[in-house]
Amino acid sequence: MSKAAPNRKLLKGATGDWEVVIGLEVHAQVNSEAKLFSGASTAFGAEPNTQVSLVDAAMPGMLPVINEECIRQAVRTGLGLNAKINLRSVFDRKNYFYPDLPQGYQISQYKSPIVGEGEVRLDMPDGETVTVGIERVHLEQDAGKLLHDQHPTMSFVDLNRSGVALMEIVSKPDLRSADEAKAYVAKLRSILRYLGTCDGDMEKGNLRADVNVSVRRPGEPFGTRCEIKNVNSIRFIGQAVEHEARRQIDLIEDGGKIVQETRLFDPAKGETRAMRSKEEAHDYRYFPDPDLLPLEMAPALVADLKAQLPELPDQKKARFMRDYGLAAYDADVLTAEHAAAAYFEDVARGRDPKAAANWVINELAGRLNKEGKDILVSPVSSAQLGAILDLIAAGTISGKIAKDLFEIVWSDGGDPHRIVEQRGMRQVTDLSAIEKVVDEIAAANPDKVEQARANPKLIGWFVGQAMKASGGKANPQTVNDLLKRKLGV
Ligand code: ADP
Ligand code: MG
Repeated sequence: MSKAAPNRKLLKGATGDWEVVIGLEVHAQVNSEAKLFSGASTAFGAEPNTQVSLVDAAMPGMLPVINEECIRQAVRTGLGLNAKINLRSVFDRKNYFYPDLPQGYQISQYKSPIVGEGEVRLDMPDGETVTVGIERVHLEQDAGKLLHDQHPTMSFVDLNRSGVALMEIVSKPDLRSADEAKAYVAKLRSILRYLGTCDGDMEKGNLRADVNVSVRRPGEPFGTRCEIKNVNSIRFIGQAVEHEARRQIDLIEDGGKIVQETRLFDPAKGETRAMRSKEEAHDYRYFPDPDLLPLEMAPALVADLKAQLPELPDQKKARFMRDYGLAAYDADVLTAEHAAAAYFEDVARGRDPKAAANWVINELAGRLNKEGKDILVSPVSSAQLGAILDLIAAGTISGKIAKDLFEIVWSDGGDPHRIVEQRGMRQVTDLSAIEKVVDEIAAANPDKVEQARANPKLIGWFVGQAMKASGGKANPQTVNDLLKRKLGV
C-alpha cells in the first residue's frame, strides 16, 4: 500500500489512528401551507389538535390527496442539490405501531424516491473543498407528538404535526470529521433556505438530523455504524459525532465489537446512549400505498422549476469574489444567509465593496449576534449603513466616529447625515482649529517637546493628546503632519 498523506482528521487511539465515517439523514419540514396529503394547516404553535383533518386522524374511508406544492418543493430541493429528478416515484406504506401515528403506517417513499443522486460542496475553513454525495431525497409524512407533561397519569397526543410533509435528505457516508458534518448541515440548511423549501428552524425541529457514525483503520472497509437519532442543533451534531467516535474507538480497542443500534444524544451530558437495536427495512413491511397512484411528473414541470431557481450560495459566493473582489472567507460569511447577502449588496452598490463587507461582517453582524437579532430586523438599515460609509468616504467623519455614529443609529435610528450635523460629529480637518489644539498641548508640555525632537517616535503621544482634546474629531493624519512640521522632526 502506498504511504498515505498525513491526515489531520484522523483520531488517535491507544493502538493507532482511526478514521471516523459519517453519513447523515436530514429531515427537513417542507415549507407549504397545507400538509402532504390533506388541506390542514401546517402553521406552528396552534392549540393542540386544531389542525387535524379527517385524513390526518386516519378516520376510516379517508383518502390521501397529494399536495402539488410539496412535490414542487421536493423537486426544487433536488435541483438545488444538483440531483437527478425521478419523473416517476412511488409512495409506500412504512408500517409500525406508535400512539402518535393513527394510521398505523407512515406514507413514505422507499424504492422509488422523487430525487436521486446529487451532491453538496463544502468549502472548509482551511481551504479544502469536500464534495458530499447525496444518495436520495424522498417525501414522507411527519407523525404527531406525544405530550407526557400535561397530566400526572396520562399521556396526550397532539396530531397537528401528523401528516406534515418532510423531505428526508440522505447523504452518502462521505463525511470524515465532526467539523465536516457540521459544515454539511450548515450548507444544506443554507441551500434549503435560499430555495425557500424549508425554513431550517432547528429549534422548532423543522430541520433535524439522524447522524450515522462508524470508525475504521485508515484504508480498511467501513466499520459497523450506529445511528444517533434526531439531533436538532449543529453544535450538538458535532458533539454527538465526537463522543460517538471516541466511544466506538475505546470499545474496539478494549476488544469489544460495535453492534448496529439506534442511539440518543444527551446534550446535558454531551454523550450518546443506546435506545434500541437497529430495525431492518423488512421490519416495516413496506409496500406501495394502494390509495396513491405512482407519481408521474411531466419533464416540462421540472424544466420550469429549474428555470425559476434562485441564485444559490455557491454561485453567489463565486459572484461576490469575482465582482466585488472579496476574499473567499468574507464571501462565504456574506452568502450563508440570503438576507445578509442582499443587505450587503444594498450597502455595496456604488460604494467600496470591501469597506461594505467589513462593516457588515464585523460591526453589524457582531452587533446582531450579540443581541440575537436577525438581519431582517436590523435596527440599522442597509440605507443607514450606506450613509455612514458615505460619510467616511467623504472624509466627513473618521472611522472611529463612524463607530459611535453606528451605535447612535442602532439605538435611536435617524438619518446619519443629520445626526452628524446635529451632534457636531464632523471630523475637524480645519488646519487652524487643529493647530490651536496642538499649540496648546506643546505649550503645556515643553519637556515632551524636547523628548520628541530627540526621538520622533514620541510624536504618537502628541497625536493621542490632540485626538483626545478634539473629542476624536481631529483627522489623525492632519494632526500627525502638523506636529511633524511644528516640532521640526
Ligand atoms: P438504512 O437503509 O439502514 O437506513 P442506508 O444505507 O440508507 O441505511 O444509510 C443510512 C445512512 O447511513 C446514510 O446517510 C449513509 O450515508 C449512512 N451510512 C451507511 N453506512 C455507514 C457507515 N459504515 N458509517 C457511517 N455512516 C454510514
Ligand atoms: Mg434510513
